[in-house]
Amino acid sequence: MNVFVWYENRPLPEAVEAERRLYPRGIHGALAELYGAEPDMAVRTGVMQDPDQGLADADLEWADVLVYFGHKHWREVADDRVDALQRRVLSGMGLVLLHSSHASKIFARLMGTRTQCLRWRENDEWQRVWTVMPGHPIAWGLDREYFVIPQDETYGEYFEIPQPDELVFLTTAQGGEVLRSGCCWYRGQGRVFYFSSGHETYPVYYQPEVRRVLLNAARWAAAGSRPGWPDWARNPGPVNPAP
Ligand code: ZN
Repeated sequence: MNVFVWYENRPLPEAVEAERRLYPRGIHGALAELYGAEPDMAVRTGVMQDPDQGLADADLEWADVLVYFGHKHWREVADDRVDALQRRVLSGMGLVLLHSSHASKIFARLMGTRTQCLRWRENDEWQRVWTVMPGHPIAWGLDREYFVIPQDETYGEYFEIPQPDELVFLTTAQGGEVLRSGCCWYRGQGRVFYFSSGHETYPVYYQPEVRRVLLNAARWAAAGSRPGWPDWARNPGPVNPAP
């Protein structure tokens, strides 16, 4: 399966140092290493500084799943690229949206809500990620009811998303906040998963439970990719023969 990793790659000044130390090849580089180590996964990466903002049609066509990490500059993604992303998701490309990608044009477009709206605090507090749908493929291999992320940015409700088609994770925070943190939706032929953990100044994407979720999520989302399905904008007539 083809995994395309996209990163905004413009950390805030106060985060540059920590990010360089934790993710010397960038968050996209760390994710590419994770997926690239899987024998059944081929990986490409793109960043906002690339031509077509790293979201070229050819790469989107190639991808079975796009793993997307956007941040503060989400408004700068061109509408033309958002249109292309939406078309690919509706025709089957999986989309895994990480952490600050809750604020992204493509997420809001696919959900129809102001997905950037949630409660947030930057701090060094723990989070407890509860599996609330243990039979879901994205939870496979997690052998406890919850895992703890020692430090992360805190997100909380109200999070303006439509009720997920499948809610896999619910996160509780040290400060008492709660968040629907691992959410699945089906859009057209495509599958969308949002996962909230992973502020760039903490080593969240090296934590084994999180890596399990990231791998599972890419596989689950890519499973909706079916090249060759017809374009539905047609009127083919009845299926049964005339009597
Ligand atoms: Zn963050």
